[in-house]
Formats: sequence, structure tokens, C-alpha cells
Amino acid sequence: MTGIVLLGPPGVGKGTQARQIVAQLGIPNISTGHIFRSNMKAGTELGRLAASYIDQGTFVPDSVTTPMVAARFTADDVRRGFLLDGYPRNLTQAHSLRDILAGEGLTLDVVIELDAPEEILVKQMSRRAEIEGRSDDKPEVFARRLNEYKTRTEPIATYYADQDLLAVVDGVGTIEEVSARILALPALQAK
Ligand code: ADP
Repeated sequence: MTGIVLLGPPGVGKGTQARQIVAQLGIPNISTGHIFRSNMKAGTELGRLAASYIDQGTFVPDSVTTPMVAARFTADDVRRGFLLDGYPRNLTQAHSLRDILAGEGLTLDVVIELDAPEEILVKQMSRRAEIEGRSDDKPEVFARRLNEYKTRTEPIATYYADQDLLAVVDGVGTIEEVSARILALPALQAK
């Protein structure tokens, strides 16, 4: 079983790479952004609540996000391993994740941080805005998300580096080039 957290700024292509990694390793993909967006589409209570934050480019409160993730980890499929995309997003969530995993007897093997310069993030975001029409890809909302990432999410990279779990991967290149870099990480080789 391989437990993976995928970190990276908005627009770096985390969702795309997440799909490549889970297909290769045969593990479930747990994306908090995806769970929120499918609830928004379905018009659930959770979706309505999340939308009020997501559309502003701010984080959904931990009191909503963390129980949702904890509930997901009670399913059996995570025993094969997991890839978390979009959680944790701040230090409190990183501590909660440690407790959730410990409670389920699971471990985290590697935290992959995808890295790219800001001008590339902005370019990729505007392309995605045209294709997918995500409400939070408008330039002013995107700028806030980028700022949230820098101030609140980036500190958890240090938290994981201190535990020797962090692998920083260059996110600049074609989808295949970036996937190849990720899949070559020692932590992802068959155990
Ligand atoms: P990206 O990483 O490209 O910004 P995501 O799909 O991961 O996109 O997240 C979209 C939005 O969903 C975030 O801007 C935030 O509002 C909300 N969200 C997702 N995951 C979390 C989380 N762990 N904590 C709080 N809010 C979250």
C-alpha cells in the first residue's frame, strides 16, 4: 500500500497528475475539490455550503472538510493505498490527517509537491477557465487562491520535509514528462 499526498499551487496540474498516478498504481483518488464540485453540481447541502467559499477563492472551513475526509477514510478501498489531492491545505488539516491515518492504521509514504513558476500557473489557469468554466478560475478569484496557497498551504511542505516525507517535483513540461518524473520517485517503486 502506498499513501500519497499531492501538494501544489492552483493551476499546476495536480488533478491531471493525480489521475495518471492512481491509474498507474491502482489506488483510490481522493480529491476534496472534486468531492465539493460534485456536491455543488448535485445541489446537496454540502455543495451549497462549499460553493459559498469556493466561489470566493477561500478555503472551506476545516469543520466541514476534515469530517468529510475522515468519513472517506473509513471505506475499505484505502487499505490498498490512496492519493490525496487537495487535503491537507493548512497545518491544522495536516495534524488532522495524521490522526485520521493513525486511527485507521494507515501510513503516509510520500508528499509530492508539484512546483511551477507563477506565470505558468496563470497561463494554465486561463486555458482551463475556457475549457471547464470553473467558477473559481476567474482571474481575481484565482489570484486569491494562489495567495491562500502561499500563505496557508506552503508551510505544510516544511512540516513534511521535517519528517523526510517531502519530494519536490518540477511541474513544468508536458503531462507525460511530469508524470514520468513523479512515477520515478523512489517512494513509488513497488514494495
Ligand atoms: P486547486 O488546487 O486547483 O485550487 P481544488 O479543486 O483542489 O483546486 O480546490 C478548489 C477549492 O475547493 C479550493 O479553492 C477551496 O475553496 C476548496 N477546498 C478544496 N480542498 C479543501 C481543503 N482541504 N480545505 C479547504 N478548502 C478546500
